[in-house]
Amino acid sequence: MHSDAESRGGRSPEETFAILGHETRLAILYELWDAQDPTAPKREALSFAELRKRVGMRDGSQFNYHLTQLVGPFVRQTDDGYELRRTGGQIISTMLAGALTDEVVLDTEPIDDPCPLCGGQVVLDHGTDRSPDLLLVRCTACEGAWKHPELGSGVLRAIPLLLPAGVRERSLAEMYRVQTTWVKYRIMLLIEGVCPRCSGTVTATPLICEDHTVGDGQVCPHCDRIFEILFRRVCDVCQNSFHMPTGRHILVHPTVAAFYHDHDFEVYGHNWHRVEMETIADQTVVSEDPLAIEVTVVIDDDDLNVTLDGAGAVIDVQT
Ligand SMILES: [Zn+2]
Ligand SMILES: [Zn+2]
Ligand SMILES: [Zn+2]
Repeated sequence: MHSDAESRGGRSPEETFAILGHETRLAILYELWDAQDPTAPKREALSFAELRKRVGMRDGSQFNYHLTQLVGPFVRQTDDGYELRRTGGQIISTMLAGALTDEVVLDTEPIDDPCPLCGGQVVLDHGTDRSPDLLLVRCTACEGAWKHPELGSGVLRAIPLLLPAGVRERSLAEMYRVQTTWVKYRIMLLIEGVCPRCSGTVTATPLICEDHTVGDGQVCPHCDRIFEILFRRVCDVCQNSFHMPTGRHILVHPTVAAFYHDHDFEVYGHNWHRVEMETIADQTVVSEDPLAIEVTVVIDDDDLNVTLDGAGAVIDVQT
């Protein structure tokens, strides 16, 4: 396994950004994207003449020079002409999403869902200097799910903010719903060992509080959180990181998801803290080496025992 671009026959990041840093080349990518009909059964290639006309460049040799820079890494040349490669499409998607150019700015807004821990007023909070790229779901009445020195008190969730395209044309309520969906699938990918940002491998580390004590509306004084056991997941490639309690991990197993579903428990919505707070009756380390954690779920007098390994994967489910 090689990690440097050269050994994979690729280009350095410097060369790649230099290729892209020209308006004619970006215009070529854009026109190739714009020419695609997503409903057509087959991707249509553009001829040299058609592409040059669309980009609006008279000088054929100049145009050819720019196009040649893109052919290979970003554009595919076929007998029919030119078409976008996946990387070219990714550049266009990133541009259209405003991911590199636009800022998401949201005011602090109260939302209707009460705090799952204390019933208090919850606000969506964003735009503090310390968390410009996070959306904080914050309770105004209790200490929240975890205390972080930079994020302040009452944080129930700190989640990666949608890209600018995800916020445009949506009301706050719609954005919050989409944000939850966006994070749900990212979490699922991480739990299954795939980085949602770069698709690299992910390393999981269990964090277990030995003296866990959660008071009314207060986080544990030993670990500063309400979750007794968390798994820290960090991408080995891009260091994208998440902290997730056991309650998130058990849900990837179909038997567990069906158990919650059969008991009318909505587990993928905004208030997923309820999974931890209302249904997980016990979590016990049943083996130190190799590490195994048994999570007991109880709903309406029915119970389910789920065993996680040291990387947070479900290895056994007993009803
Ligand atoms: Zn609260
Ligand atoms: Zn603790
Ligand atoms: Zn990654």
